[in-house]
Amino acid sequence: MTLKLQNYICGDWVEGQGQGAALTNPVNGEVLAYAGSEGVDLGAALAYARDQGRSGLQALNYGERAQLLESMAQVLQENREKYYQIAYQNSGNTKVDAAIDVDGGIGTLKYYAVMGKTLGDAHFLCEPGTDRLAKDKAFQALHILTPLTGVAIHINAFNFPSWGLWEKAAGSLLAGVPVFAKPATATSLLTQTMIRDLVNADILPNGSLSIICGGGHDLMDYVQTGDVVLFTGSADTAQKLRTHPRVIETGIRFNVEADSLNMALLAEDVTTDSPLFEAFVKEVAKEMTTKAGQKCTAIRRILVPAASIDAVADALTARLAKTVIGDPASDGVRMGPLVNRAQQQAAWEGIDILSREAEIIFGGDRQFAVQGGDVDSGCFVQPTLLRCNKPMNAERIHDTEVFGPVATLMPYSDEASIWALASFGGGSLAGSVFTNDEGFFARAAVTLAAHHGRLLMVDETVMNGHTGHGIAMPQCVHGGPGRAGGGEELGGLRGLRIYHQRTAIQANISQLENLRAATVDFSS
Ligand code: NAP
Repeated sequence: MTLKLQNYICGDWVEGQGQGAALTNPVNGEVLAYAGSEGVDLGAALAYARDQGRSGLQALNYGERAQLLESMAQVLQENREKYYQIAYQNSGNTKVDAAIDVDGGIGTLKYYAVMGKTLGDAHFLCEPGTDRLAKDKAFQALHILTPLTGVAIHINAFNFPSWGLWEKAAGSLLAGVPVFAKPATATSLLTQTMIRDLVNADILPNGSLSIICGGGHDLMDYVQTGDVVLFTGSADTAQKLRTHPRVIETGIRFNVEADSLNMALLAEDVTTDSPLFEAFVKEVAKEMTTKAGQKCTAIRRILVPAASIDAVADALTARLAKTVIGDPASDGVRMGPLVNRAQQQAAWEGIDILSREAEIIFGGDRQFAVQGGDVDSGCFVQPTLLRCNKPMNAERIHDTEVFGPVATLMPYSDEASIWALASFGGGSLAGSVFTNDEGFFARAAVTLAAHHGRLLMVDETVMNGHTGHGIAMPQCVHGGPGRAGGGEELGGLRGLRIYHQRTAIQANISQLENLRAATVDFSS
């Protein structure tokens, strides 16, 4: 019998009504499980997390909660191979793809465990320094941060069922705020399995971690002041949920990580025979094909000097042609399918939109050779490179996110057009700049920063040692302005800010110093 995923709420495993949605293997359409949350009492689930989870977690100090994160990471680490198998089957991941998701999630928990221990036995945080307020020097202000009183609702996209959960939960649990996980239904098998393993390990206080595996239904109807929502997914769903009357009425924080037309820029100083040129091409090809392009940070727009565009097109095409696509279980396969039929169809439609303004110079076929699978029964999309010769006059190449192995190459003529093209993305999660020119490096870093949450600046000294354009490191902030959602996650201890209330305490300085003595300084 096919597995029916249960939801974990109110300290119990609960089945949704009806059959639920099918979770499939995108290589061949095989049904792996069903997931549903129909009829689950979401109001009661949130109330239990607020009551039991919060009191259990907030009875502990930051150091003790950091220890919980470490123990969680250990349990997950022990079951890592099982998670890889699920990632192969339900997400069509290759081993590298699965590592980014599974190990990326576990690594983020471990990182926050280490960072959390630096906060020791404190129960709240305070900002460094005090601010004088009046003629009397004794009357000053101290800003303190206390954990939120509600629950953190973490709504995630289908492409990172592990990392998406843990990159949010690490900061939330460290802050003492219980987690209510709402993974995307299509890949909730991995998220649910990880949470089940942790529930069985009995590490966390009751109510610290809940999950629903099916649709979100009326979840937003039950949010309360003191809760926080962190959403990752499409701009359309973000818009619908953050304008929900209950979200507006309660004034809760609502963090959005949405879609993004991330760019990679080859600077004019990089000649086509230089090692940096090769490194640029390699990085772009890797970004297009890792996780079959289903990364919110993946490179979608490739900006190159007009004089080099033919060379970049040839080099990229040669690399993409060598990418073996097929069943990740088959030897030598470097890129798997998209997650399901709906995403495959959306990618094809997106390619059609882009091709109204750009010429397909590689890929774009719906029939192509796959290894160890069948192109008709699997959700494969061929890596597709487009070229738009007049990007300054184009629109759709700058606003259409094709969530697959698809990118558009475009020439620029001068620095002014670089800055303009970058801004046409409307705000992005990540951008990369490849240059050895120190002057350009400085101008690009400062000018492009306004449009990006993160910039990877690559010269020959770091081209072999950087962490990659698309990898969100826990030390660095993740999020972007404008259409990327305007949110911010991670960034080391900066990521704790959203789970705390900052309050100005105005009082006698000696009282303030007594407060400070009970905690540690925190800058965000
Ligand atoms: P989506 O369709 O917008 O769904 C995102 C999440 O919202 C899913 O968990 C979905 O659940 C949930 N949802 C929908 N209606 C809801 C409701 N009424 N209440 C509560 N939750 C609800 O996005 P997706 O197709 O999964 O992901 C692809 C998109 O995510 C792309 O645009 C990509 O750029 C973006 N993304 C962004 C980032 C980032 O960090 N910025 C990372 C990854 C992906 P169901 O699955 O049950 O519908």
